[in-house]
Formats: sequence, C-alpha cells, structure tokens
Amino acid sequence: MVLGKYRQAIAENTIVRWEEISDYPTGRLTGIVSIAPIFDDKGTCTHLVGSVQDITDRKLMEEELRESEEKYHELVKYAPAGIYEYDYETNLFTSVNDVICEYTGYTRDELLTTNFFNILTEESKKLMLARLEKLMANELSIKQAEVQTVEYCIRKKGGEELWVRLSARYIYESGKLKGSTGVVYNITDRKQAEDMLKESEKKYRELSIIDDLSQLYNSRHFHAQIEIEIERSNRYGQPLTLLLLDLDKFKKFNDKYGHVEGDYVLSRLGQVIKRCLRETDSAYRYGGEEFTIMLPMTTSEEGIVTAKRIQTELRKEAFSPVLGQEVYLTISIGLAQYKPKEEMKAFVHRVDQLMYKGKKNGKGRICSDDGDIQ
Ligand code: GH3
Ligand code: MG
Ligand code: MG
Repeated sequence: MVLGKYRQAIAENTIVRWEEISDYPTGRLTGIVSIAPIFDDKGTCTHLVGSVQDITDRKLMEEELRESEEKYHELVKYAPAGIYEYDYETNLFTSVNDVICEYTGYTRDELLTTNFFNILTEESKKLMLARLEKLMANELSIKQAEVQTVEYCIRKKGGEELWVRLSARYIYESGKLKGSTGVVYNITDRKQAEDMLKESEKKYRELSIIDDLSQLYNSRHFHAQIEIEIERSNRYGQPLTLLLLDLDKFKKFNDKYGHVEGDYVLSRLGQVIKRCLRETDSAYRYGGEEFTIMLPMTTSEEGIVTAKRIQTELRKEAFSPVLGQEVYLTISIGLAQYKPKEEMKAFVHRVDQLMYKGKKNGKGRICSDDGDIQ
C-alpha cells in the first residue's frame, strides 16, 4: 500500500497524504504521513521526502466524542422523560424525542414546525409570555448552564390538558438568548390530585363557616369578619353599618306548631335575607333566632333601606304550619353605623340595645341610632 502511494506521488508529481496506524511496544500511534517526490534536471525522481504528524491524541478525542454522542442519542431516545431543543430565533423546536410526541399526541414533524407557545393553554401562555419577556430583557439573570424549572399546561392534540414540569437550560450568544434545551416530565396526575385536594379543602372551609339551617354564615365567621370590616373602616374611613334581626314572638310559634316548623321558618328567613342583600353585604345566623347583617361602605340611612326591604319581603312570606292556615311573622331590627375607633364589642352591644329598644316599643320595628323608624 505504501509503495502505491510513493508511485502515485512520483507519477503525479504531487504531495500524497494518508493516515497510518502503527503499533509500537509503547502503544498504538496514528499519524498523517505526507510524502513529496524530488526530481533531477532530467526529470528522474531521485528521492522522496516525507513527514509524519502524530494525531494519536486527536484521534482518541474524536473516538471519545463519537462514543459520547452515541450515548447521548441513546439516552435521549430511551429516557423516561421528554427531551427537546428549542430555537428562540425561529421560535421552533429543533429536536424532540419520542416521549414528547407520546405526551402531546403530536408527530415529530408537527412538533418541529410548532411554536411552543401555540400548544399551551391560555393561562400557561400568559405565564410563559411574562417569563420570556424577562428572559429577553435579561431580567431573570439566568446564567449559562443554570437550570430553571417551570410548570406549564399543554393542550394535547386531542384537546386534553397535559401538565408538565419543564427543566430548561438557556443558551446565550453574546448576551442574547439563542435557545434552550430541556427535560419535560408529565405531572398531570399530581396536578389533578392537587386540584382535588384544593377543592375539598375549599368545600370543608365553606362548610365550617356556613350555618346548616339558614344557609347563612355562622356566628364564628361573623366574629372573624366584623374584625376585618372594622379594621377596613378605620383604615379607609369608610362607613360600616350593622343590623341585628330578631324574630318576634318566635317562642310562641315554636310552642304552638313545633320545633320542626320553627326550623322551617328560620331556613325561609335565611332565603329572604339573602335575596335582599347586595354582593358586598353578608348575613350571619348570630344565635337561635337572631341574625346579623354587615353592610360595608354603607351609612345607617342607606342601611335602613335594606332593613325595610327585608321587613317588607318577610311580610309577604306566608307560613302554613297547619293545613289551610297562613301565619305571618315579623322581625325587630336594630341598626347602627360604626363610630371610628369604637371597640367591636361596644359596637355590637349598641346594635343589640337598639334592637331591644325596638322590641319594647312594639316589635316589627327598625330602630336605628337616629331613632325608632316604624
Ligand atoms: P321576642 O319577640 O321578644 O323576641 O320573643 P321570642 O319568643 O322570639 O324570644 P325568646 O328569646 O323568648 O325565645 C326565642 C325562641 O327562639 C326560643 C326558641 O323556641 C326559639 N329558637 C331558638 N333557636 C331555635 C332553633 O334553632 N330552632 C327553632 N325551631 N327554634 C329556635
Ligand atoms: Mg332572641
Ligand atoms: Mg325573638
């Protein structure tokens, strides 16, 4: 073979190069051999000059690189996670493994022509946009090789939602975001379990503050809320009005028609109260047949309008504890506006006293700090 190279160099009067592997007792060496023919005046090749460049180390490195690339491709292909590369200049995936195709239901070709943004749900789009803006403006101070983890919700090809946890590494070139590589895990099951837990916590929380019979809030919630409203009223100087309602002669009703019929009255009164209130108002069953209503951002004059509305509506409610008989019930209402810096207990007591004043003056009345109304 070497002879052939010599002949070629002489015949073509050119430098011939080739790679030669030689085994020595010290190990294998790889070199690039170059030979050039030297001719005399008559055009006869008198000798050949040659050189050998040792490329053993470079060869070894190339071999290692090829092996590690093979390993990387195997890993990407069979990893139990999605792996991708993304180009921020074209805004397209430049590679995705089979797992990403399985997760999303899209083919590789479809994904490679897709802007990632377009397969996200609306909520996740907003999240991603906010992150991208910061990334582009270099506000996230993300360093090369630093891995960032985010959770996004993808709309699968069939429309189903897929929650993923994405750990991405960002690639910058001259300070500009060029692309990213990332690993994607399917966390849909975990997200669904979290949602169910949140839902049941919310239900439990609601149940613990709602009175079963009237379906209004209970007294525990009243005490928590009034503190909040008083604090808000003091801070912003907004008016706050409190109503205390008590059914008139309810003991008699119970004694005559029984406790079950009495319970029914309390539940109907809960509905009457609810439909007379605005979104910002809240009603509570304070005690047995006593109710409180909190009217934030409302003066006592405005509160009287609500109180009158409840009384008018209750007057229209006919109860039939006995077949063929109609019973109408009235309520006494005490009403007052919060005085700045007043103690919560003193405020509630003031309203309570006004309600009793109304009772004394003949029941079915609204009694406010401006006087007895009717
Ligand atoms: P007043 O006009 O002065 O308010 O008289 P009243 O009979 O309504 O008031 P009183 O405080 O003497 O009695 C309250 C009655 O409310 C006692 C009880 O029979 C009734 N009551 C309290 N809680 C409940 C309840 O949960 N269910 C039923 N059915 N009745 C209740
Ligand atoms: Mg009472
Ligand atoms: Mg009563």
